[in-house]
Amino acid sequence: MTNGTATLNPSASSARSCCTPPASAPAHPKLFERVREQMDLAADAAGLAPEVRKILAAPACEVAVNFPVKMDDGRVEMFSGYRVQHNNVLGPFKGGIRYHPDVSLDEVRALAAWMTIKCALVDIPFGGGKGGVQVDPATLSRREVERMTRRFVYALGANIGPGYDVPAPDVNTDARTMAWIVDTYAATMPPQERYRALAVVTGKPVSAGGSVGREKATGQGVVDLIEMWAADHKCKVSDLTYTVQGFGKVGSWAARILKDKGAKLMAAQDVTGAVKATTPAGLDADALAEHAKKTGGVAGFPAAQAITLDQFFGVQADVFIPAALENQVTGQSARKLNVRLVAEGANGPTTPEGDAVLRERGIDVLPDVLCNAGGVIVSYFEWLQNRGGAAWNATEVDQRLREILERAYARVKGMVAEKSLDWRTAAYAVALRRIEQVYAERGIFP
Ligand code: GLU
Repeated sequence: MTNGTATLNPSASSARSCCTPPASAPAHPKLFERVREQMDLAADAAGLAPEVRKILAAPACEVAVNFPVKMDDGRVEMFSGYRVQHNNVLGPFKGGIRYHPDVSLDEVRALAAWMTIKCALVDIPFGGGKGGVQVDPATLSRREVERMTRRFVYALGANIGPGYDVPAPDVNTDARTMAWIVDTYAATMPPQERYRALAVVTGKPVSAGGSVGREKATGQGVVDLIEMWAADHKCKVSDLTYTVQGFGKVGSWAARILKDKGAKLMAAQDVTGAVKATTPAGLDADALAEHAKKTGGVAGFPAAQAITLDQFFGVQADVFIPAALENQVTGQSARKLNVRLVAEGANGPTTPEGDAVLRERGIDVLPDVLCNAGGVIVSYFEWLQNRGGAAWNATEVDQRLREILERAYARVKGMVAEKSLDWRTAAYAVALRRIEQVYAERGIFP
């Protein structure tokens, strides 16, 4: 037991190993501090017991590993990776693994805590975890990324497991990465136990134990939530215009699903640049996704006008979907936004200053812990299917996802009304109440 958090798998906890974290400075210092402040704000609003606040103020466990990887040219490089397990009172730790040069212990802590809030808010039986390796995978070959992934999993050892901590894709990781993780994890288990290995990660290729609908799930969830918001504002999704930041797993799926519903994509931006529609019909989200996949980004899309980042933020639309990294909607960029709703597909895209400006300007926010929860919800479905030897169909997955999101949306809406809160604070308050309830029922060992 660590930090007063109930540990669900004692054998896994005894297998933890911690190495020295690397000394590099985090790109966004104090991100975890920000999560704690958000939790405090919501805890005050919901009148939460002080014990729960204390428990959630620090992660239950932090694993930092430095490990060697053989490069294609025979050199050996050292890599630093993390897995932070924030809280598991509701169930096994759950959350993605990202590969990015800005990965730091502080960032992974924040992302793990957001997973705790997210899972509690949508009421699925998981806690919060997150992992990452500090690397720009674009500088590595496919084989090097594979060897790095396998070596990272080996270094994590018994710190992950189907009933203990279940990773998934995140920034720069995907179904193929998850397939390597299962294979590596299974190889380290006794043959009779290997059947259990499938559930060690979610977001696998469908042909290798993944769930139908998982790949698009986060984007699907973003669209479901936008639909609920639209219904509350007496408008139809087919009449909406939108802009998207980040055209990867989340942004491109959200854009394509919205296109199917008749909404118009007015601009898109990613690390390669920004493009704007030249006609009111908008950009073709499918063609743009195809282009981004082929060329590595949205820049250079033929049927569009190239614009600057500043211009991108100012493009007029009904909805802005940040679906890239943290800290994009700052005080400055929030002032430029020309939209009615920010639907957060990314984790932590809005800074506290950004939030204050959005509130002041009357721009609605569907907060990340609600808006991007579709991914982890379908991860939960995948985990259930793996453990039960079942295979659900696409309609079943979409329907169940929608039901869970509708319930969560209604709970947050209820809290907004009950306590006169903004949506982010209300979402945290709902999640924290759920966690408080379980601690009250279970008590604290001994
Ligand atoms: N990385 C995704 C997130 O931040 C998915 C996590 C999961 O499926 O476990 O929500």
